Formats: sequence, C-alpha cells, structure tokens
Amino acid sequence: MSLQSIFPDHPVTWHLSPILEKTIEEKAYDRPTPETALELSEKIYSVIESGFPPIELVGKQCAVCGFGELTSESAWVAWGKGRPEGLAYFECNHCGFYFAQNKSKYDKSVERGGPAFSWIERLGQQ
Ligand SMILES: [Zn+2]
Repeated sequence: MSLQSIFPDHPVTWHLSPILEKTIEEKAYDRPTPETALELSEKIYSVIESGFPPIELVGKQCAVCGFGELTSESAWVAWGKGRPEGLAYFECNHCGFYFAQNKSKYDKSVERGGPAFSWIERLGQQ
C-alpha cells in the first residue's frame, strides 16, 4: 500500500513516501536516526512549499510554463543521429520547451532507490 493509492487525489502527500517507508523498516538499524529523519522532513517540507511535484508526477506537466503537457511523440530531434540509450525526450505541447530525462535515474527514484533514500543513507553514516 502506498500514499499514492491511499490518497490518489492528494499528490502532495506522496512526497512523504520515502521517509514513511524508511521509518517503518523491519530492522531498527535500517531506520533513519531522529536527526536524519528531521533533516529529511525539513527537505521534504521545502520541496512541498516550493511547489515541486512528487516524483511520480515528474514529466507529466511542463516545468517551464506549468500549463502544457509533455509529449514524447515528436520530441527526439537529433539531425540524423539515433536517440542515446536510457534517455527520454519530451516536448511541451503548449510552450514548445524541450526536455531530456535519464529514465533509469527516474525509475530508481520512483522505486525508492534514488536521491531521497540515498540522502537518508548518506546522513545516517555521519
Ligand atoms: Zn510548457
């Protein structure tokens, strides 16, 4: 069960997933220390307050105009070269901005192996 399935209409709650999942780890030594949990909470609060979408919604809405949707149908423009492996390209259907994304990094973050979890582990080793 995930926050995404519990609160499908409140994506801002999805930001809490990494810290909640880490704090309920079966083994106590896999859980963040209170100081680490507090620091991550402050970072999550900052991300929410700044209006960033949860990782699950990244790539859905244009980060430049905030109005358009990102489409990959016509996004790859490389003048005769093939698309680099592991990268995805998107174009905003409203303002035309063009974006590239490393899909393996994105997938790792969605699966909770990405920056938020790495951040917890990094702080836990101090
Ligand atoms: Zn746009």
